[in-house]
Amino acid sequence: MAYDNQNIFAKILRGEAEAFTVYENDDCLAFLDVMPQTDGHTLVLPRAPAQDLFDLEDRLMASLMQSVRHVARGVRSAFSPDGIKLMQFNGEAAGQTVFHLHIHIVPCYRDRQPQSHSREMARAEVLEQHAEKIRTALNQL
Ligand code: AMP
Repeated sequence: MAYDNQNIFAKILRGEAEAFTVYENDDCLAFLDVMPQTDGHTLVLPRAPAQDLFDLEDRLMASLMQSVRHVARGVRSAFSPDGIKLMQFNGEAAGQTVFHLHIHIVPCYRDRQPQSHSREMARAEVLEQHAEKIRTALNQL
């Protein structure tokens, strides 16, 4: 399957759709998942049009993982979760729903069960508050 440049993350990357951005650099963009499994659930993606894990050149993959760790540090500092889970799906059969490579950073809390994948839209005010918390934490790292 060829990369579809009308997918929602491609639109966000081109500035045609809104996102609760927490971090960006030349290679990557990070924003909140609008249907978060837990508070602070963040997605990190390459700017390059890669559909999945197998579609991104090595240098950009290394850069993506560096960004993931940087953003995860910010999420950890902002939300003090008990743990952090990374997730990444390749292909519909694996649960991928948006066909632009992305890595989920999911904070885990001992006393709270995560919501199901892509289930419930969070309120925009809450997402903006959470995004601001992460941006502030990243600025203080
Ligand atoms: P995946 O199943 O790994 O492809 O996950 C795609 C994720 O993107 C899901 O967790 C969705 O909640 C999330 N998502 C879908 N649309 C948007 C959007 N416009 N902004 C932020 N996150 C989104």
